[in-house]
Amino acid sequence: MSEHFDLLIIGGGASGLTSAVTASAMGVQKIAVLERLSRTGKKLLATGNGRCNLSHKNISALDYQGSYDVTEILHQFGDIENFFELLGLYCRTDEQGRIYPYSMSANTVLDALRLQCSGVSELCNEQAVALAKHSGQWHITAESGNQYSANYVIFSAGGTVQPKFGTDGTAFRLLEKLNLPIVQGRPILCPLLSDKKILQSLKGLRVKGSVSLYHKDNIIKSETGEIQFTEQALSGICIFNLSSLLEKNISEYQISVNLFPELDASEILSRLYCCQAVRCEASGEDMLSGLMQKPLARSILKQIGIKADFPCSQLSDLHLHQIAELCHDFRFPVLGTVQEQAQASAGGVHGNALDEHLQVKSHSGLYITGEAVDVHAPCGGYQLHWAWASGYTAGTHVAERIL
Ligand SMILES: Cc1cc2nc3c(=O)[nH]c(=O)nc-3n(C[C@H](O)[C@H](O)[C@H](O)COP(=O)(O)OP(=O)(O)OC[C@H]3O[C@@H](n4cnc5c(N)ncnc54)[C@H](O)[C@@H]3O)c2cc1C
Repeated sequence: MSEHFDLLIIGGGASGLTSAVTASAMGVQKIAVLERLSRTGKKLLATGNGRCNLSHKNISALDYQGSYDVTEILHQFGDIENFFELLGLYCRTDEQGRIYPYSMSANTVLDALRLQCSGVSELCNEQAVALAKHSGQWHITAESGNQYSANYVIFSAGGTVQPKFGTDGTAFRLLEKLNLPIVQGRPILCPLLSDKKILQSLKGLRVKGSVSLYHKDNIIKSETGEIQFTEQALSGICIFNLSSLLEKNISEYQISVNLFPELDASEILSRLYCCQAVRCEASGEDMLSGLMQKPLARSILKQIGIKADFPCSQLSDLHLHQIAELCHDFRFPVLGTVQEQAQASAGGVHGNALDEHLQVKSHSGLYITGEAVDVHAPCGGYQLHWAWASGYTAGTHVAERIL
C-alpha cells in the first residue's frame, strides 16, 4: 500500500495528537498519525495516576532544562486552560498549582483530542521504520511494508523509556540516519536505587520531609515532600525530581533525607532530651517513636551501632547528638535509577538542530516535538505542557505553510 498525505505525524501521543488537532483545525485536509501501538494516546491514559496532570500554573521557561530554549514556544502557546476549553475540556487547579481535567480523568483528555481528530487518519499498528526525503517529498516506510509519502512530517515518537507505551527509543534511528545530533537518552523522574541493607527495614514507609541530592560533598538541589521507601529504592515526587539531575558516575551521588526540615539541630536535640526524660523506662526504639515511625527509629539506632531494645536512659549525650544529626542528614548512596518506573527521559534531538518552530534546520519540512526534543522538566504537569506547546507550534507552522 502507498498513500500520500499533506502532513504525516509519527507517534500518536500527547504532542503528536496536539499537532494533528491544531493543523486540522486550521484547515489542513490530508493528515495522518502513524502509531505503532494498537491505539493512540495509551501513555496519556496512564498519566497522573489516570487523572492526567496536564499542566501547572505559572509555568515558565526556567522550569525546563536541556539544549533547546523553550521560551518563545511557551509564550506563543499561551494559556493552557484556554487551549483545552477550545477543545471543550474544562480544567481545575489543585492547591499545589497542578492543573487537571475537571473530570480528574485522563480518558477525557484523550477524548478531547480525538474528538477533534475526526478528519485525521489514525493509522495504528503502524511503526515507522524508515524516513527519507527525495524529489521534495518525505517518504516513510512502516514495519508492515506500507509506504507513505508526505509534504511535511512531524516526528512525535516520544523518548527512550516506557516501552509498554510504545517508547523504547528505537524511533531515533530514523533521525540518526538523517545525521541529526541526538543527545543520548537517560531515564528521569524515577525512583533511585539505594542500599538494600538500609532499605530492607524501611520498606513500605512514607515520610514527610526533605531530600537533598549530593554530588561528592556538594549539595545539588533539595526538594520537600513525601519520601517513599521501597525494598530497594527511594521514591516519591521529591525523589523523582532529583533523579533528573544525575549525570554520569551515579555512584558519586548521595541522597540526604532530612526528617525534620522545620526544626534546627538544637530543637531536635531538645526534643530528644525531652523524650528521654519522659520515657526513661523505655527502649531506645520506643523513646524515638515519640518523634518518628518505629522502623525509622530502629534504622537510625542501627546506624549509630545501638540495638533497638537498648535502654534509652543509657543513651549518652554523644548518642543523642548522633541521632539528632541523622534526623537531619540520613544518607543513602545512589546506586542507580529504576528505569521501568521512569516517567520520562532526558535527551533527544539537540536544540541547536531546531529552529523556533521546531523544524529541523538542515531538513526543511521535518519537525520534532515533545519528549523527542532534548527538553525536560520536573513532575507536576511540566512534561505534558511541553508536549502540548511543542505539538501546537509544529502543527501551526506546518498549517501556515500549507495554506
Ligand atoms: C506513568 C507515567 C505518568 C506520567 N504522568 C505525567 C503527568 O501526570 N504529567 C506530565 O506532565 N507528564 C507525565 N508523564 C510524562 C508524559 O506522559 C510524557 O512526557 C508525554 O506523554 C510525552 O509526549 P510525547 O508526545 O512526546 O510522547 P508520547 O506521549 O510518549 O507518545 C509517543 C508515541 O509515539 C509512538 N511511537 C514511538 N515510536 C514510533 C514509531 N517508530 N512509529 C510509530 N509510532 C511510534 C508511541 O507508541 C507513542 O504512542 C507521565 C509518564 C508516564 C510514563
